[in-house]
Amino acid sequence: MTEKLYDLNGRARAFSARVLSCAEKDGKWAVELDRTAFFPMGGGQEGDQGILHGVRVTDTVEEDGRIYHLCISPLPVGAQVQGTLDWELRFARMQVHSGEHIVSGIAHGKWGCENVGFHMTAEGAVLDFDRELDARQLRELEEEANRAVWANLPFRVWYPSPEELAALSFRQKKELRGPVRLVEIQGIDRCACCAPHVERSGEIGLIRLSDPMRHRGGVRLTLRAGLSAWQEDFRLARDADSLCRLLSAPRTGMPEAVQALQKRMEEQKAALAAAERRYTALLLDTAGETEGDLCFFLPAETSPAAARELCEQGGSRCGGICAVFTENPAGGWRYVMASGSRDLRAESRALNAALRGRGGGSPGMIQGSAEADREEIGALFHGKQIG
Ligand SMILES: [Zn+2]
Repeated sequence: MTEKLYDLNGRARAFSARVLSCAEKDGKWAVELDRTAFFPMGGGQEGDQGILHGVRVTDTVEEDGRIYHLCISPLPVGAQVQGTLDWELRFARMQVHSGEHIVSGIAHGKWGCENVGFHMTAEGAVLDFDRELDARQLRELEEEANRAVWANLPFRVWYPSPEELAALSFRQKKELRGPVRLVEIQGIDRCACCAPHVERSGEIGLIRLSDPMRHRGGVRLTLRAGLSAWQEDFRLARDADSLCRLLSAPRTGMPEAVQALQKRMEEQKAALAAAERRYTALLLDTAGETEGDLCFFLPAETSPAAARELCEQGGSRCGGICAVFTENPAGGWRYVMASGSRDLRAESRALNAALRGRGGGSPGMIQGSAEADREEIGALFHGKQIG
């Protein structure tokens, strides 16, 4: 049985121990020690990493009550070894996990929310509550959680006696077996948990809640704390600075600058559409009316909507087919054809074959793409060619 140094001392990070066993497991070496500060995966927190006797430990797991350090090389059984945690990783995880207890404790106390899901990710954690919280409540939750951080409250971790436990109320996420380990944050939360935590809430530094989404009748949140919260805020601040420079806007005026940009884009879109309408009207005037076909060629920047409108109007002014070809910047053409007298769907196979194209549609209108050059198109449509 391994003595769990992490159990009542979350700050233990270097220790000496004796190797009890070492066996190959899935390409790694599973090493058992008589004592360890490496926390095995549990309670939503990943297993610790670090160095044992100069050998890298990539994960720590618990199976059937035994703790295995997964090492990249074997260790000599019986040897006395030194162990060191990857402390930056462990501390960042404790900041997130301890932050989660604060957030869950406050949400439980204020609105009766039960934490029904928690798993840690590389960037923080995903947290599920069993009831929905609106934007105002989420802001309140985040603010109160940070106030609890600034109050630098002590975390107490202990195994109460059965009598003491019976008299205490506490949150629990699953059925408990064996002695119950409680984690208490003064005035905020009391919860059964197996993982190591910070000693005082001030070590968490910062708590951020983001990306709320409805989930199984409740809400799913992304939680960042400590290092992961700062890294995300730093990234967002850097992006905000880049946007300010691109928009030539002050930091506080970004929404207004983007709204002004959107308004300008809408105005330009409307002006462009009006110009296209004038252009296609001019092309239709030039074409006049004919009993034969009409064939228009348009530059690549013409919108599909304008090509289609020209085609519809041209189709009603000719006796045959009105075909509109818009240059494709990648080569060839986009085409749309309309006719009041011919069944284009029935003819589309022959038309596509002649144009080296593909496409289809309804009897009155077809559209697609074509590879044919202008001469080949001209030979196919007898009648006026415009554009
Ligand atoms: Zn926990």
